[in-house]
Amino acid sequence: MRSGAIDTVDADIIGKEPFAGPFGIGHEAIAQVTAVDEAVTDMRVGDIVVVPWAVSCGTCYECKLGLTAKCSTFVPTSPGGTLSCFGFGPMSGAWGGVVSDALRIPFADHMLVKVPDGVDPLRVASAGDNLTDAWRGVAPTLAQRPSTGSTGHATGP
Ligand SMILES: [Zn+2]
Repeated sequence: MRSGAIDTVDADIIGKEPFAGPFGIGHEAIAQVTAVDEAVTDMRVGDIVVVPWAVSCGTCYECKLGLTAKCSTFVPTSPGGTLSCFGFGPMSGAWGGVVSDALRIPFADHMLVKVPDGVDPLRVASAGDNLTDAWRGVAPTLAQRPSTGSTGHATGP
């Protein structure tokens, strides 16, 4: 994949070939915990969890603001690297892709979110990326317009 063919601004930021392969693909997942180390206190083997696309620490300034995709602890040093995440090759760090038999998750207590009992994991497969983007894009606006009904159409002024 080459950048710059459509968006020259992106090419200036991340280079002409930011996704030079080969590398592991996939950047969001539902997974089952298969092992934990002694630093992990909230996750147990067997838990079904949401794996977010961005790698974050949970303790830096940006993470505490809720801007985990902008985590300042994990900034790739590779050319063009601006954020750490799964599945985008060396540009985004050495995390690999989530299309894998096993994945190492740093700061698992912070990064992983347990899928509640009774929730079909397939129903929340996008929770690590698209679903949260959708919520962030819609919820604040709807909160400012309480007259908006469940159909999404505003009924007030
Ligand atoms: Zn952080």
